[in-house]
Amino acid sequence: MKTMWAPWRMEYILGEKRGRCIFCSALRDQDELTLFKGEDTIVTMNKFPYINGHLLVAPVRHVSNLHELNKIEMGELLATVEQSVGILKTVMKPDGFNVGLNLGKAAGAGVEEHLHFHIVPRWFGDTNALTVFGEVRVIPEHLKATFNNLKLYFDKINTTN
Ligand SMILES: [Zn+2]
Repeated sequence: MKTMWAPWRMEYILGEKRGRCIFCSALRDQDELTLFKGEDTIVTMNKFPYINGHLLVAPVRHVSNLHELNKIEMGELLATVEQSVGILKTVMKPDGFNVGLNLGKAAGAGVEEHLHFHIVPRWFGDTNALTVFGEVRVIPEHLKATFNNLKLYFDKINTTN
């Protein structure tokens, strides 16, 4: 196999990758999944939802870490999360919510390079009762096994104190 060093490819690859960022694309173009474009935040529907009503709330700036956000962006981000929850409450009347961040690939971030909150409305008795963030659906058997493993250590904490 012949390998060619082509530095211009790198820019192309990086550019292409950046272009594929769903949030930056949504900010640039009209997008049927985007619910809100604010000065500092954007809200989109998740194309691959865990459940109906699964929303994504991201800062406008393409950053991957919390510490890269300034105080205003942090405030706006949380305010937008709160507003999104409020709207979902009104429209879909869920019994609860999972709200969270997946930071890094190991945590299951699908779009790792652009920070975003997941908001997942939940209903009593919804079928994927043990769905967790990170595109991993935990099945009860595994959860039970993990629980048992952890419980051993937690029990030790109790007895040594
Ligand atoms: Zn982006």
